Amino acid sequence: MIFSSLSISYTNKCTAACAHCIVGAGPDKDEKLSPDLILPVLPDCNQLGIKNLLVTGGEPILYLDELESISSEVLKSGWHITIYSNGFWADNEKNAAIYAARFKKAGINSIVISTDRYHIDYIPFSIVQTAVDTLKAHDINCSVMYMKDNVLSAKDLYIDQHFQKNKVSNSIYRLSPDGRGEHLPEVKSNYIIPKKNMLLKRPCHLLQQLFINHDGNVLLCCTSSGRFKKLDSKDFYCFGNIKEDSFKTILNKIKAFFPIIKIIKQEGPAGIYHREKNELEKAGFSLKEYYYARCELCFDILGEQRYEEITKSLCR
Ligand code: SF4
Ligand code: SF4
Repeated sequence: MIFSSLSISYTNKCTAACAHCIVGAGPDKDEKLSPDLILPVLPDCNQLGIKNLLVTGGEPILYLDELESISSEVLKSGWHITIYSNGFWADNEKNAAIYAARFKKAGINSIVISTDRYHIDYIPFSIVQTAVDTLKAHDINCSVMYMKDNVLSAKDLYIDQHFQKNKVSNSIYRLSPDGRGEHLPEVKSNYIIPKKNMLLKRPCHLLQQLFINHDGNVLLCCTSSGRFKKLDSKDFYCFGNIKEDSFKTILNKIKAFFPIIKIIKQEGPAGIYHREKNELEKAGFSLKEYYYARCELCFDILGEQRYEEITKSLCR
């Protein structure tokens, strides 16, 4: 099975406008998916063996009524649903309980609350804690995720200590120079991975997910959504758009791309580099001294049109 999850970035509308947001979400944005767009793709996803729906944004809970109707269909096929939210709905205990009861009734199995030192400017940490406490009280799986970088701030330390003390399960991601994060001065301190480490073959776990962004683009991964300002089906990372193309056509394009997906899934972009090193170098490619993450190597190879014929040869 190539994908285990369908991941949808439901909207780029958000109650916050964090300085590091990789999708550039905010209150003034209004692009979104809809049940009419998502429900028709589910049968094909079922056939691919997908059994998980991950809903991110922006802030997807702004459209909870629409998520409830998607959820009722997804549950019929025995899927598991996880929603990523900034927790805005827990601004007081009463509201938090109302939302938690709706999540429970809709069969939403897990909620991941995102927070970090940038979020806190919009969503105070007390709200995050109310969200976590209320979800736990309603027996809904709950964890937190947050971004950190090499500039450890007092806010970061506070968040770390708080979650450790309260035994809240959490996952930590690195700040990324994509979307609005591209303009953050501290992003520069993230370029610390020397090129020799970039050549190590390690799996890319994000390719367990089939990803659809708020524009309806079906993309290789969610990070490419933040990296490239406007993607369309001419781009390597974009397989088509569910607003314009039939999902079967998109899936056929993805299937033709399976050899590359398999390489990156198992070995990361280093797998592509090692296989095509000579051809890439002949076409002018050279490794940088430092990277912020493996995705950077992926973007430098797959995101460059001049290497397209070389990388596509891996699918023949
Ligand atoms: S990082 Fe999360 S909470 Fe902040 S603007 Fe982006 S989607 Fe909203
Ligand atoms: S390594 Fe490539 S495919 Fe994997 S998440 Fe990064 S950009 Fe996407």
